[in-house]
Amino acid sequence: MSAEKKDYYELLGIAKGASAEEIKKAYRKMAVKYHPDKNPGDKAAEEKFKEVSQAYEVLSDPSKRQQYDQFGHAAFGPGRGGMGGGGFSGGGFGGGIDLEEALRTFMGAAGGGGGIFDNFFGGGGGGRSRNPNAPQQGSDLRFDLDIDFEEAVLGSKREIRINVNETCESCKGSGAEPGSGKRTCSDCGGAGQVISGGGFVQFRQTCPTCRGAGEVIEKPCSACQGQGLVRNKRNIEVKIPSGVETGSRLRVAGRGEGGRRGGPPGDLYIVLHVREHEFFKRNDLDIICEVPVPFHIAALGGEVSVPTIQGNATLKIPAGTENGKVFRMRGKGITSPRYGTGDQHIRVQIEIPQGLSGKDKKKFEEMTAILSDKHFPLTQKMRKAAKTFYDHKKALEDNA
Ligand SMILES: [Zn+2]
Ligand SMILES: [Zn+2]
Repeated sequence: MSAEKKDYYELLGIAKGASAEEIKKAYRKMAVKYHPDKNPGDKAAEEKFKEVSQAYEVLSDPSKRQQYDQFGHAAFGPGRGGMGGGGFSGGGFGGGIDLEEALRTFMGAAGGGGGIFDNFFGGGGGGRSRNPNAPQQGSDLRFDLDIDFEEAVLGSKREIRINVNETCESCKGSGAEPGSGKRTCSDCGGAGQVISGGGFVQFRQTCPTCRGAGEVIEKPCSACQGQGLVRNKRNIEVKIPSGVETGSRLRVAGRGEGGRRGGPPGDLYIVLHVREHEFFKRNDLDIICEVPVPFHIAALGGEVSVPTIQGNATLKIPAGTENGKVFRMRGKGITSPRYGTGDQHIRVQIEIPQGLSGKDKKKFEEMTAILSDKHFPLTQKMRKAAKTFYDHKKALEDNA
């Protein structure tokens, strides 16, 4: 027990009204200076390290600091053990703290942002890891599936085969051979953490042997080698709804990786990739296609047969239909259970007869002899534009 305890503010070399940040900064400076790793075998330095750590422990906690400001060291001394005024229990501040506690305090302070420790601790530090013994949900899985255009627009059923880590039936995901127990981890003595690092900075990390659980399995499950999961091949039936497209995700609940220690499995996500079709293109739920129309039907009017995803349909072509004209067939697009039905858009591509020869060619010439400029409005339009240009050209040349 220390006979005369020094003032905490004096110890850290700060004023009574110092801010939390100032307290931390001052403590870090002191702690690094007197850290045992930096002063091996120096008992005085170690004592100082413990003292400043204790001062920081109190002043960094607003309620402890308030107690200290009000009562001084008596706040934590044996005389005030009862602490009617809302003191804290435990802590052992009456007799100073031991090195282990001081090191812990040091680690806690090192975890904040800004300061020389950031290089050592990456600015993180002190993150509370979750209970390693708690049930853990399995991971979600992703499976990429290529499907045909037809499957995407009409829907289909597919069976996929996946390799998946599932909860071991034998040990129910615990990793322990049924009937066997657990023993305290010898590497961390059950603490779940080990101290590592060199130089004057030591840090705690999760014990790699027991992964923080503090216990290890006495006898690993022989079915899963203690992993809690076993790799299985599974056939999974996938229902693909109509109207899906590349990038659509299908969720198969509970078919992801198995959970550990009684946790639920994850989900399986199937990401779809739709192969292109040579004739049908799509825009959302609409189908877009280019349909060849024989030139005489385009000229005289008539009907053409048009493929749709629902079967052949008839499209009326008005007389004088030009190349590139787009017709819409309502309700001939893709039906999605969620978004309704789209249309089919047909772009006319006028087809010119190929391979005319001999008598056929002669007849064709006779037929087309009836045609003149008046039957060709585009030609007329072009001639008119050209004439205007030549008129202006001549006027300019005459003026020159
Ligand atoms: Zn097992
Ligand atoms: Zn351990």
